[in-house]
Amino acid sequence: GAILRLDGIEKGYNLGRPNEVRVLRGASVEITPGEVVALVAPSGAGKSTLLHIAGLLDSPDAGAVVIGGQDLSRAGDRSRTAARRGLVGFVYQFHHLLPEFTALENIVLPQLANAVAKPEAEARARDLLSAVGLAARLHHRPAALSGGEQQRVAFCRALANQPRLLLADEPTGNLDPATSDTVFDTLMGLVRDTGMGALIATHNPGLAARMDRTLRLEGGVLRPA
Ligand code: ADP
Ligand code: ADP
Repeated sequence: GAILRLDGIEKGYNLGRPNEVRVLRGASVEITPGEVVALVAPSGAGKSTLLHIAGLLDSPDAGAVVIGGQDLSRAGDRSRTAARRGLVGFVYQFHHLLPEFTALENIVLPQLANAVAKPEAEARARDLLSAVGLAARLHHRPAALSGGEQQRVAFCRALANQPRLLLADEPTGNLDPATSDTVFDTLMGLVRDTGMGALIATHNPGLAARMDRTLRLEGGVLRPA
C-alpha cells in the first residue's frame, strides 16, 4: 500500500469571513514505498499548510490523510501526536539540532521520548550516523561539525524513530551546491534502503531533478510538473 495518501484535501483560513483564504482545494497525492517526491510551490501557494497536514500537525477541513495504511483523517489530537512521533520524520531547512548535545545524543533523545530503551536507542543512533559517514563524529556537538555534517545528523534524527514517511522543507537550503548534492544523495539512499516514502519541498530545480517525480502546488491542487 501507499506510504502517504492525501485525497481531496481542502483547507482554508477564516472561512466565511471577509478575509477568507481557501488554500488547498482538493489536493491529492499518493507516495509508494521507496518513492521520493519533490514538492515545488510558489511562495504563498500553501506549501507549509500541506506539509503540516501531511505531518499531522494540522487537520484538513475535508479530505483523507492516510499514512502507512492508517487513516488519520478524523483522529483526535492525542492519536495524531502519537502517529506523528511514530510515523513521520521531519527535516528542516536549518538543522535545529540541540546545540548542547552531541550528534549521538541528538539522535538518542527523540527515541527516548518515543519510549525506546537507551541501549537500543544508542545502537540505532550509531548505525544511522555510520550509514551517513559520521562514525568518527558521534561525540561532536553541532558547532564542531560542518554544515553538511550537521544536516546529515539532522537526517539521522528524522529517521531515529523509523518513520514510514519523511517530510522535508528545503533540506539542503543553506548548503553550498556541491555539499548539497552529496548530502542529498545520502538522504535518498537512506529513504530507498528503508522503503520509506518522502515528500521534499524545494525551490532548487537541480535537487528536484534527482527525485523520482515532481508535483507542483498551485491553485490549491497538486499536479505533475
Ligand atoms: P507557503 O508555505 O506556500 O508560503 P502557507 O501554507 O504558509 O504558504 O500559506 C498559504 C496561504 O494561507 C497564505 O496566503 C497565507 O497567508 C495563508 N495562511 C497561512 N496560515 C494562516 C493562518 N493561520 N491564518 C490565516 N491565513 C493563513
Ligand atoms: P518556519 O520557520 O517556517 O516555521 P520550521 O523550521 O519550524 O520553519 O519548519 C519548516 C517547515 O516545516 C514549516 O512549514 C513548518 O511548519 C513545517 N513543519 C515543522 N515540523 C513539521 C512536522 N512534524 N510535520 C510537517 N511539517 C512540519
